[in-house]
Amino acid sequence: MAIKEEFLPKWIAWEITRRCNLNCIHCRSSSTMESEQGDFSFEDGKKLMDDIAKISKPTIVLTGGEPLLREDVWDLAAYGTEKGFRMCIATNGVLVDDEVCKEMKRVGIKMVSLSLDGSTAEIHDDFRKQPGAYEGVMKAAELFKKHDIPFLINSSFTKRNAFDIPNVYKKAREIGARAWYMFLVLPVGRAEEANAELLNAEEAQYWLNWHYELEKELILKGDNTILVRPTCAPHYYRIFNQNAKRDGLDLKRRNLVFGTGGGKGCVAGQSIAYIDCHGWLRPCSYFPISDINVFDVPFDRAWFESKIMQDMRKIEEYKGRCGVCEYVKICNGCRVRAYWEHNDYMHEDPICKYVPVKMKVGIKHKGLLNKTPEKGDDIKDVTP
Ligand code: SF4
Ligand code: SF4
Repeated sequence: MAIKEEFLPKWIAWEITRRCNLNCIHCRSSSTMESEQGDFSFEDGKKLMDDIAKISKPTIVLTGGEPLLREDVWDLAAYGTEKGFRMCIATNGVLVDDEVCKEMKRVGIKMVSLSLDGSTAEIHDDFRKQPGAYEGVMKAAELFKKHDIPFLINSSFTKRNAFDIPNVYKKAREIGARAWYMFLVLPVGRAEEANAELLNAEEAQYWLNWHYELEKELILKGDNTILVRPTCAPHYYRIFNQNAKRDGLDLKRRNLVFGTGGGKGCVAGQSIAYIDCHGWLRPCSYFPISDINVFDVPFDRAWFESKIMQDMRKIEEYKGRCGVCEYVKICNGCRVRAYWEHNDYMHEDPICKYVPVKMKVGIKHKGLLNKTPEKGDDIKDVTP
């Protein structure tokens, strides 16, 4: 089979346990301390990594739940390093101590991702539903610096904490993070209950414009202290291009260290994937459905045989505005938001309200569109 390089896995998040010591409102897996551990054995884990190595040597992020709760976490990481993967780990920080840092170094962890959702204990702990969580992150950051372990900060935002976005960025910088990823929470897992709190399209546009100004300033100053990128807001790539054009700037964006290898907004199922603790393979961590299990079908086949994964690579079959959008190749639209809104992951991304040129001029395209949008259509161009 001819394998297209752009459709090989470059980054895989692997849920090695669903148990978690926190109870965050936005958690994709609704994890708690009582959640099932995940029944794969160390031998199953090794076999999975052997299968992945047959087609690629991606970055593998051990995640959870809280991955540090799994007893063989270091054995899994060491095996991955031995196989030639770039092993990373995502933790909420609370369990990090000197011993954990020494183990991370021993097994070759290349990058740790920490979550920080507020610039103060009050805001972060309210979001994480855990008094002391903020202190845990600050302490973990100190320890990583002491042990010279690179870390990045993931920050999740809803209406509840979005006002704090600029301060969280400053805090991530202050504590020495190599990168800061601004994530606009999606309607999945426990976040379904908190849907009313999710940022809407206009609010997302506001914060993505803010992010553009931040990134522009860093690029123009040649400031490489910290890499910044919104995650899971693929239309940021459109906004970035449009704003740079408006400003008459040719801004060269830096590549992310341990990025997802796409150079575009969303590469779910194209070069990234998520494997849950039961072995279900999904295009990304937030994708709610799966049609293949890597403990039944080896990963090197599952990656190609899953219909869902195949669909993710058929950009030309996207529907609605994404289906006719001139930015689709650099954006891709969020397939998860499309699924929640339209019950169809190939449909348009509802958090982006851009009206593609082909729609503006009412061109017929593949039978998807036969009229110019009219007053009353649920389409609003909020492009600056
Ligand atoms: S489909 Fe959506 S949630 Fe998944 S990686 Fe793409 S942008 Fe993120
Ligand atoms: S319409 Fe779809 S492809 Fe175009 S910018 Fe918006 S989300 Fe991206």
